This record gives sequence, C-alpha cells and structure tokens, in this order.
Amino acid sequence: MNTFAADDAAVGALRSAFHGEVIGPDDESYEHHRRVWNGSIDRKPGLIARCADPTDVVNAVRFGRENSLLTAVRSGGHSFPGLSVCDDGLVIDLRPMDGIRVDPENRTVRAQAGVLLGELDQVTQQFGLAVPAGIVTHTGLAGLTLGGGIGWIMRKYGLTIDQLISVRMVTADGDTVTASAEENPDMFWGVRGGGGNFGIVTDFEFHLNPLGPQVMAGTVYWPVEQAVPVLRFYRDWIAGCPDELMTIVALRRAPATPAVPAELAGQRLIGIAGCYAGSVSEGQTALQALKSFGSPVLDFCAPKPYLEHQQSFDPSFRPGRWYYVRSCDVAELTDDVIDIIAEYGRRILSPITSLALWQLGGAVARVGEDETAFNGRGAGHSFNINGNSETAEGFDHEREWARDFWTALKPYHTSVYVNFLMEEGESRIEQAYGPEKYRRLKTLKRTYDPTNFFRLNQNVRPG
Ligand SMILES: Cc1cc2nc3c(=O)[nH]c(=O)nc-3n(C[C@H](O)[C@H](O)[C@H](O)COP(=O)(O)OP(=O)(O)OC[C@H]3O[C@@H](n4cnc5c(N)ncnc54)[C@H](O)[C@@H]3O)c2cc1C
Repeated sequence: MNTFAADDAAVGALRSAFHGEVIGPDDESYEHHRRVWNGSIDRKPGLIARCADPTDVVNAVRFGRENSLLTAVRSGGHSFPGLSVCDDGLVIDLRPMDGIRVDPENRTVRAQAGVLLGELDQVTQQFGLAVPAGIVTHTGLAGLTLGGGIGWIMRKYGLTIDQLISVRMVTADGDTVTASAEENPDMFWGVRGGGGNFGIVTDFEFHLNPLGPQVMAGTVYWPVEQAVPVLRFYRDWIAGCPDELMTIVALRRAPATPAVPAELAGQRLIGIAGCYAGSVSEGQTALQALKSFGSPVLDFCAPKPYLEHQQSFDPSFRPGRWYYVRSCDVAELTDDVIDIIAEYGRRILSPITSLALWQLGGAVARVGEDETAFNGRGAGHSFNINGNSETAEGFDHEREWARDFWTALKPYHTSVYVNFLMEEGESRIEQAYGPEKYRRLKTLKRTYDPTNFFRLNQNVRPG
C-alpha cells in the first residue's frame, strides 16, 4: 500500500507559504473535502491543498513534485470515475478560486478554475450573454472545458472550447504560462480537448454570446412503450432543424415530485428535451411539432429563463449518489439503434438510472476535426448511459444495465467523448482522440510533462 510520502517539515513549509487551506486527515473538514460528486468513490488523500490563488497552485505543484506525491487536480469534482481524488497522495483543489469578471463591451469573460457552470451563467446572464457549457449547474467549468464541453447552446455557438480565447496555466515545473492562438499555440491546441494532461489551468477567458434571458425550452414525455414511434418521429424532425435548436433524448422513471401527477410517478418514460437558442417566438414555432406529436403525458416545454432551464436536470444528478456511466457516439439513429434504446428503456429499474442521448451537429461540426484536440465533431449523437443507485445497494445491477446497453450498441459505435469515459484503459483514450490526434497529444505531453506528473486524468502518456 502507498503511504503519504511528505514529512512534517515539508508539510509545515507548505502550510506557512499557503494563502488557502491545507487540510490533512486530522482536520475536521477533511471528511467533507475528500468527497467528490460520485458517491461510489471513497478515497483518502494524504493532503488536500485548497488553493486561494495561482501562487498557491504553483506552491502545491512544487510540493507534489519535490515529494514525489501522486497528485490529483480538482475543480468541480464531477469526474465520473473520480479522477480528481486519490488515496494517500495530494489533491490540488481549485474550487475556492471562483472569481468571474465580465467585459460586456468586448463580450468576453474571465473565470477562475474553481467556478461551477451555474455560477458562470448567473453572472453572464445578467448581461443577456452566455458561454456554451454543460447541462447541470453544479458541474465544474474547468474539467468540462478541458475535455470539450457539450451543452444546450452548442449547435448555435459550438463547444465550450470553441469560445475559449486563452488559459493561464501552471505547468509540471511550476511555471506559469499563457496558452492562446498567439502564445504557446501548441499547448492551446492540446488544452482544447486534451484534458488536464498538460498542466493546471488557473483561469479561462471566453467569448460571450447573446442568449435569452428567456428561452423556449424543456422536456416533453411519452410512455416508454411509445419509444419506437417517438424516436422515429424525432429522427425525421431533427433532420434539417436549425442550429438554434438543440435536443436531448432521455429515458428515465418519472420522479415523485409535485410537478408529476401521482399516477405517473415511477412510470418508465421517454422524453425529448429541447432548448432554442434564439427568440422565444421562433422557439415556439420550432418546438410545436414536438409538443404535438402523439399524446405526451408530461410537457414542460415552455418559455422560461435560461437559468431555470439550466437547472432542470440538477435534481437527477445530486452529489453523493452512486454513479456509473458508459458512453459512445453513433452516426445516426437507425431503426436498430432505436429498437435498442426502446428495449433498454423498458428495462430501467432504479428510479435514478437514465439515458441522455445528445444531438450533435450544427456549429460543433463546422469546426475542423484537427483544429482542436477534441475528437468526434462529425458524430450524430452521443450516448451517456447512466446506471445509478442511491447507495451501494443495487449498484451492481445498474452497472450491468449500463454495460449491456452499451454493448448492444457496439456495432454502431463511432467515437466517444473523453469527458464521458470511466477508467477504461489506454485503448479507449486513444479511441476518444483518434490515432493521429492521440500521437500529437503524446508528443505535446513529452514537451510539457515528460515525467507524467499529471496522470490522474484520461491519461496521455508521454510519447
Ligand atoms: C452531473 C454531471 C453532468 C455533466 N454534464 C456535462 C455536460 O453537460 N457537458 C459536458 O461536456 N460534460 C458533462 N459532464 C462531464 C464533465 O464535463 C466532466 O465530468 C468534467 O471532468 C467535470 O469537470 P469538474 O471540474 O467538475 O471535474 P473534476 O472532477 O474536478 O476534474 C476532472 C478532471 O479534470 C482535470 N481538471 C480539473 N480541473 C482542472 C484544472 N483546473 N486544470 C487542469 N485540469 C483540471 C483533472 O484531470 C481532473 O481529474 C457532466 C458530468 C457530471 C458528473
């Protein structure tokens, strides 16, 4: 077994130089801060360095290097496989660094690495502006951006990385660098999809885009028994839909909440969620066909603040539950793929197990495949198959459902989104980037992190 390798004197020196908090196993808040979003991850680091500023990040990196510590980097803590915490080693936690500054004139925003998506939206929406990002507000901006970033307005404005102007980073040597189109462009290519392999980002600068604040958005549901006709309608309806419209297909059991009639609670449903990144009236026209298909049993699709829509999936992904995910992209929703979705929808057991099937295309697909490290821009749809349970009880069954669902789709797999991987081994990481980009990332890794100090991630080994 590993043990924590730094001695008391080294820890003392770190503590006295540190502006934020350095938390060890004997500290009262240790139990709280060692936890990550996924409750199935139960790791006990030797030290958690909660950084208050970029100087703390530099000191923490140097401390990790000098003491040869296994080092995890954490911002929002939402890594599906829990890669932002480790046993025995060091966690460099950026969550306290949550500053956001909007420049409304130039339509740009600077956000520190500890910012959560909901916090960014809250600030930018005060100006009627937004960065395209993810669909659950408590997700971290940093990990999401570094993997690519898919969300409700990506078909209009691209991936999160497509609006990235620059990052400030701390490298494995403890140096501070800027990466942008002008400065360190090779690094800038790598951080747009290559994850945390090249250093710790301390802050991001993004372009902002007009949005809302009111949008036409929400989910329409039908009984899962109608999944085949609903999905065939959906396939035809989205062919040729405008970039403003983004949709996600959902499978789940209806929750027992005040918004759901009691007789529906627990029923297996298929839903189609839409968000129109344009005027509400255009959105109403664009979404009318969805709302009037067949006989929906629930319809939450209506004009609302974008901020409200952004929170709509939050309760389904509360921190602390046991989560397991399998993911793959497919080119199109063939009849066979539709049949598989319908079959696994009928077999959902846990009230919190679900599928989110993302529509891609639009602005995402118009950026060249080689312009950034992100791979799979040409994919049609991305499956995020979530086998979840409240606790350890029943978790094995849910994982098996997710694995079986994913396996049934295997003949149709194309790419996979790196931020939706569990710990699945090197071949899957290579698959996520494709062989050419993977080689380029390995070369970049050799330049910026030859000892693979940053290895608790979807790791690209130095090539
Ligand atoms: C509930 C939920 C909803 C999600 N929804 C979406 C979505 O809508 N769209 C989408 O694209 N993805 C989504 N994801 C996936 C998400 O993008 C990844 O899980 C991402 O890693 C989360 O970022 P984080 O900062 O919260 O993660 P963390 O767990 O803090 O970090 C994950 C990894 O990112 C790296 N990292 C984190 N911070 C830094 C940093 N400052 N510098 C360098 N490397 C760093 C590290 O390698 C770390 O292991 C979702 C995940 C969850 C759990």
